[in-house]
Amino acid sequence: MTRIQQSINRRDWLGTALTMGGSLLLSPYLSKEFLRQNDAETVIKLNANENPYGPPKSVLDSIRHFDGALFRYQGIYANNLREQLASFHGLESQMIMLGAGSSVLLQLLGHYVQQKSATLHYCSPTFNILPDTLKKAGGKLNSLPLTKDYKFDLAALKEADETPEAIYLVNPNNPTSTFYDRTEMELFCKSINSKTLIILDEAYIEYAGDGQSLVGLLKQMPNLIIVRTFSKIYGMAGLRMGYLMASAAIIRQLQQLVPWPNHDLSTLSLVAAGNALQSSSFVQTTRTTNARVMQSTIKGLESLGYRCSPSVANFVYFNTKGKNLRAALEGYGVQIGQLDYENQTYARVTVGKEQEMERFVQCLQKLN
Ligand code: PLP
Repeated sequence: MTRIQQSINRRDWLGTALTMGGSLLLSPYLSKEFLRQNDAETVIKLNANENPYGPPKSVLDSIRHFDGALFRYQGIYANNLREQLASFHGLESQMIMLGAGSSVLLQLLGHYVQQKSATLHYCSPTFNILPDTLKKAGGKLNSLPLTKDYKFDLAALKEADETPEAIYLVNPNNPTSTFYDRTEMELFCKSINSKTLIILDEAYIEYAGDGQSLVGLLKQMPNLIIVRTFSKIYGMAGLRMGYLMASAAIIRQLQQLVPWPNHDLSTLSLVAAGNALQSSSFVQTTRTTNARVMQSTIKGLESLGYRCSPSVANFVYFNTKGKNLRAALEGYGVQIGQLDYENQTYARVTVGKEQEMERFVQCLQKLN
């Protein structure tokens, strides 16, 4: 398997998630009868790193009670959200670009890197939309393996090229949940040639605690791009809202690659996202609850002999000891992600609600 192929295929992770749409009722494993026979009332979906507690109630209320003009395009609301994000992060609004989910922005960055004819250096497995887009566009990639403890290999990335043209970092990494704290990440980014474009995906950074983001570096590092999403800690995956932050010059160049600014956004999602930014107590509560449930899940997994990668995110990565746990758990109505890496099989389970995780561990016990 080539290194590029080792990078995660989002469709693999989402394979079971997608069946939620059309074919769920047709699946022999997930039919009501099958679930009943296996003592599972409903499907427990732990395969897409969604936050089961979200969105905050105030966000839902802002959608329910919205009385603005939906017959108008969303421009004004997009500008408002850019202003709100700018003040939230201490930046200027010209340094913010919005997208219907950060996936769209990562895809755009793939085209941006391709347009610059830059080689993208990154480690695998990781979230694959950016490398995949570049690959499909015929761009140049240099995929390196993770370290032995499943982290992005920063030393190897630095050595890969004296002046690498573009680097993609995912912190915390998906699927391995490994993490560098702000000091380590900052040291690395500052050690890289200032001509290198650094794309840092911080989709799960809020789970790692306050002050872990590199947002504070953006004003001094015009080569840094940070990608964020409302899909994870804010629990708004279905509302599709993400953003990226970079120098105003980079944002202007990126805007040239889209039909018109904010063309893919919806007013209700923009209003909801602006509201979510004010829900700091929701973020705190989610973080604490997630950490507590994750610890007991890891304990459960370890008691069954599974080795877990340490996690600061909302998912756990572990070696399945050669078992196809995804297929086996699906039989119990529990959906997780799974991938093969270096001839071993690993699973990624999202931290759901307490009862869901208890059920997940019980099912594993039956399979052990
Ligand atoms: N980045 C990472 C690391 C992810 O894991 C995901 C989704 O799972 C995304 C970006 C994309 O999220 P969204 O498109 O919902 O913003």
